[in-house]
Amino acid sequence: MDIPKQYDPKQAELHHYERWETAGYFAPEINKDPNAPVFTIVIPPPNVTGSLHMGHALQHTIMDVMTRHKRMCGYRTLWLPGMDHAGISTQLMVNRELKKEGKSRNDLGREKFVERVWQWKADSGGQITVQMRREGASVDWSRERFTMDEDLSRAVREVFVRLYEDGMIYRGNRVVNWCPQDQTVLSDLEVDKAPQAGKLYYLQYPVKGRDRRITVATTRPETMLGDTAVAVNPDDERFRDLVGATVQLPLTNREIPVIADEYVDMEFGTGAVKITPAHDPNDYEMGLRHKLPEVVVIDQFAKMTGDAGEQFAGLDRYKAREKVVEEFEQRGLLEKVVDYEFSISRCERCKTVIEPLISTQWFMRMDQLRDLALELMSQKHKPAFVPEVPYERIYTNWLENLRDWTISRQLWWGHQIPAWYTKDGEVVVARSEAEAQEKAGTSDLTQDQDVLDTWFSSALWPFSTLGWPNETQDLKTFYPSSVLVTARDIIFLWVSRMVMMGAKFMQREPFDDVFITGTILDSQGQRMSKTKMNGVDPVEVFDKYGVDATRLTLAQVGTTDIRWNEKQVESYRNFANKIWNAARFCLLNSEGASVDAGLLVLGPQASSPAPMTIQTGDGNTRGPSIQDRWIISRLNRTAVSVNQSLAGYQFHEAVQTLYHFFWDDFCDWYIELTKNDVTAEEATAQRNNARSRVITVLEQALRLLHPFMPYITEDLWQRLPGIGKQSLHPAYTAAEPTIMLAAFPAGDSSLIDDQAEWEMQATIDLISRVRNIRSEMNIKPGERLRVLVGAPDERLRSVYESATTQISRLVRASEVSISDHLEAPRASARAVLVGGAELAVPLEGLIDFDQERQRLRREQEKLQAEATKLEAQLQNPNFVERAPAERVAEVRDRIADIAQRTSQLQQTIENLQ
Ligand SMILES: [Zn+2]
Repeated sequence: MDIPKQYDPKQAELHHYERWETAGYFAPEINKDPNAPVFTIVIPPPNVTGSLHMGHALQHTIMDVMTRHKRMCGYRTLWLPGMDHAGISTQLMVNRELKKEGKSRNDLGREKFVERVWQWKADSGGQITVQMRREGASVDWSRERFTMDEDLSRAVREVFVRLYEDGMIYRGNRVVNWCPQDQTVLSDLEVDKAPQAGKLYYLQYPVKGRDRRITVATTRPETMLGDTAVAVNPDDERFRDLVGATVQLPLTNREIPVIADEYVDMEFGTGAVKITPAHDPNDYEMGLRHKLPEVVVIDQFAKMTGDAGEQFAGLDRYKAREKVVEEFEQRGLLEKVVDYEFSISRCERCKTVIEPLISTQWFMRMDQLRDLALELMSQKHKPAFVPEVPYERIYTNWLENLRDWTISRQLWWGHQIPAWYTKDGEVVVARSEAEAQEKAGTSDLTQDQDVLDTWFSSALWPFSTLGWPNETQDLKTFYPSSVLVTARDIIFLWVSRMVMMGAKFMQREPFDDVFITGTILDSQGQRMSKTKMNGVDPVEVFDKYGVDATRLTLAQVGTTDIRWNEKQVESYRNFANKIWNAARFCLLNSEGASVDAGLLVLGPQASSPAPMTIQTGDGNTRGPSIQDRWIISRLNRTAVSVNQSLAGYQFHEAVQTLYHFFWDDFCDWYIELTKNDVTAEEATAQRNNARSRVITVLEQALRLLHPFMPYITEDLWQRLPGIGKQSLHPAYTAAEPTIMLAAFPAGDSSLIDDQAEWEMQATIDLISRVRNIRSEMNIKPGERLRVLVGAPDERLRSVYESATTQISRLVRASEVSISDHLEAPRASARAVLVGGAELAVPLEGLIDFDQERQRLRREQEKLQAEATKLEAQLQNPNFVERAPAERVAEVRDRIADIAQRTSQLQQTIENLQ
């Protein structure tokens, strides 16, 4: 058997993925069982501009673990990949390229610009799809979708038209969030709101015909140029006599009324507020109620308009602010300026301060859609959030407070709004230009220049990707999907909108469960971000430690936030090496052996009166050994537990279970315990049997590990003797042998053998204790020692007795003596065992007592010094009060450990007299 000494992850990553993909193993069609249950995930489509970051790597790992697991369980699985056209981000990317060439998008014109974006996509977009292949993501590339594909665009138009016809999409004037930098409107969700230190200006407006001024407070004094009223609360005694009066608006020649409106907060500022309907959403609403004019004084570039007055026109908004304040001061109308912290809105992408502008946009009414989503939750509890707390509440609260969605964007890259205008300005909404012409009865139409918010098409993703509005077989088979895996920051932007659209157009939820992952923070606990340059590049981690080790690390993140810790990946790289080495040992001793699942079906000895027997080469029959019964029990217990963990989205638990099974049970014990049989020189049936069994256990373990570590498991599995088509799950009759289509071990509870596990644990405990003594007492590895055991419990004695050969071999003992109570020389190292048993190793002749006493005293002194230092720390009130509680507890624990260890050492020193 030829197997490299060292595991080389890159080699495995290089060729297995390509083989899986070309053979069509990722597509659901590979499953030939007509009655197979279905498992579907649609990927949260990454931006076409994106490259892989830790958030993707985390989500993809979890999705792939679930998909591979279900596939191996015989499900018809579809993990559907794709990308989002990412309107603004992509347009900006191409704008930047053009800028380098000294051009702008206006130089190209719309059509050429859009062509250029498609070209950009073809050349440099979708880098992430290459990286996903490296990750091992078992997505069905034959069904890859892009939100701007013709099919998906058709779905977008269909939804738009239907919602318009239902009166749920309308065009109207509103004050919207405008980004002066990106030149587009943004939805509330694309705006970051954060408190910021600023100033509150108290401006005085003279009341006409009275010797009185009315003071208003504002953070944006430049907007006063667009005021069309001053409002007070009708219940406010201070202003009652002013309602109906007229105010001379300073710096302009306009007169504006004082109006009463109960929305005015008497507690804010002076109780009187300036009303600027064109530049504030609340003022806009009030303006509608009181039929106030709208005076636009700031334009889309955040510069003052002609209506702001001659001396302000053309000024930047902040320059205008200075100037307005200056003018008020000169006229003695500036009452005061106070420091004030208020919430300021910035564009999520470019961080430019948002300018609220009045503008004609397309909106989606959300009331009916919201009710559909709330109904799904209250009646069917769909989707089920994992974890339920706090996400279910966050989601429903948000829905309950949902406002209309601004869906138009002033961009060229995206789905152009399917609305056309006649010469007379009449609006025709249609699925195509031809349909629009037919409806309008003229071909003289102009299409709306705006495109739809990128999230409009993402909201349709779970069904548009499956062929909707056509009743395709895929749509019937794969909708709704089983689970959505995503991050908490897009529950509103995306998850809720998919639910609403699914409920409206498919009459049911788009997915059963929503698994919300935690966030991977940097090692300091900060969010990773491009601007902070603190991100960890998953591909670099793959290169350094291998994809499998990285996936294991990511799989156990689960739903909580964690700090990135490279040590963890390193430890899983070591685990991968451990797997390789163990498998290598098995393979180097595999002559005459073959994977044979029949070897793993033993009746538990304790409960079966006639245990299965094994024919040995010399014609004798032997019952299955304790270690075989034990490893089979452990294997089945592990399989049952891993399946349970995966069903409950407990990935961390599954990883831990597998890690300990493979490392501790299989490598550290089972291989050690069977080593003699496996490496026997003579090719007896007993040897071949032992070899086959160890290799069969290995094969099962590789299957269990496969969803997490696809590469190393496939690489090793392919080398095992005796694997073939018969190893595949019965649903995959058309496939060539591959571990990814082998049946995932379900675990058989009837093969869990508590008695065998108890017996084996007792032996393991004894061997471990003797090994500890060996290392603690510095006994040379070559020295054989005597092991004396006293066990009052008869059952325990018989367990030890039957294991004496194994014990002698594994601890290098010249003698293992077992009796009902311990009798040992004074100069012995002792240990307490389970079940009240005791153990002693006589030290006479093994070590130099004088030297050893001195060494132990030195150790005692060192520990004492450490304890004194720690005690002093605890005496320091500063430390106890300020250090984190865990740290203080750690110190206390360490002191207790030292005390215990010191007294053990004392005992040993006395014994060595
Ligand atoms: Zn912006």
